[in-house]
Amino acid sequence: MPIINPNFEKLVQNYLFSEVGARRVKFEKGNPGVKVYNLGIGDVTLPLPPSIVEAGKSAMDEQLKKETFRGYPDAAGYPFLREAIAAWYRGLFDDSLCPATDEVFVGSGAKDDLYAIQQGLFAQENSVAIVEPAYPAYIDANVLAGRKDHIRFLPTTEATGFVPEIPKEKVDLIYLCYPNNPTGAMISKSELQKWVDYANKNNSIILYDAVYSEFISDPDLPRSIYACDGAKKCAIEMQSFSKRAGFTGMRCGWTIVPQDTGLRDKWKRYRDATYNGTSYPIQRMAEAALSERGKREIAENLAYYAENASIIRRGLTGAGLRVFGGVNSPYCWVKIPGKMTSWDFFDLMLERANVVGTPGSGFGKSGEGYFRLTSFNTHENTAQAVANMKKVLS
Ligand code: PLP
Repeated sequence: MPIINPNFEKLVQNYLFSEVGARRVKFEKGNPGVKVYNLGIGDVTLPLPPSIVEAGKSAMDEQLKKETFRGYPDAAGYPFLREAIAAWYRGLFDDSLCPATDEVFVGSGAKDDLYAIQQGLFAQENSVAIVEPAYPAYIDANVLAGRKDHIRFLPTTEATGFVPEIPKEKVDLIYLCYPNNPTGAMISKSELQKWVDYANKNNSIILYDAVYSEFISDPDLPRSIYACDGAKKCAIEMQSFSKRAGFTGMRCGWTIVPQDTGLRDKWKRYRDATYNGTSYPIQRMAEAALSERGKREIAENLAYYAENASIIRRGLTGAGLRVFGGVNSPYCWVKIPGKMTSWDFFDLMLERANVVGTPGSGFGKSGEGYFRLTSFNTHENTAQAVANMKKVLS
């Protein structure tokens, strides 16, 4: 038997969402006929917009004909999609700040890229800072890469709006995620600029996870780290079509690796060695998501989710709870009243309100005492879930 990666032993036993799912299934088995309202879901539920599906169908038709059939795509993505992504940035801010087309790398989603980047580009001995509470994949990816003892958590609290303090000493790699999962918090451009300045001063690299950027409705908030001066020297950015355009089942995203970081050509070499490209129909669908018609259709879906977030915020705030996020973000971060732990509150809500959320402690120590609710269910289910919770809490 070959030697297994010893870092497996260092992973936390169960992936958070598997544990949430197991408790829900157990409850449903024991309580047949009871309707459970799932506000734990971190997955979109509205179907794909028509323009996106049409683009996929027409790309499939091309695969039927000898003249238009396509085999392996370029590992970095087709020029049409890379250019559409570069154009998306040009719609956000000044050309001088925008990534160039050859700094855009299309992939099958942010989770895959987050993992591949830290495996492929960075040595094991780097120190890593992870804002906490955190999306669990940042931690798992670094633990699997043998960096468990190199991780430094940057706890966040209500007092600082869930944005961490900048470390006093040098850290090599920094994971930032705004709009944040799970806290729903957003960072201002001036705060983000301070991180960029820190990274440039210390020769650090920021891994900026902006997969929820399209949930931002406030035009003054940055949808990309490249809104900040000097970010092209120190930041790699991950964006995704998953939540913005309903691609969680389609799989497509992109990563920007700017030439000025000195990493673009290395990343290209790594991708050429390890990735055979995102499928042509999916890339055509992603292109459609960035078209004017696609953007209009997507905006309707995002408005639907935003309304759910506001039902949660209004309802639970009205019941006297402190609710964070839910604006510029699909996530509401609820302070649990009293001294109950996140998992105790999870069980209470499941058993008495028949609502599934996600226990904050599953995202790290500073998530203890919080509960994450998402806006991806229907209006009706969201309203009923909130009503059930209010009844139990009163
Ligand atoms: N980053 C964050 C913060 C997420 O919450 C998620 C998914 O929930 C991802 C990345 C993964 O995105 P993708 O579907 O593009 O892999």
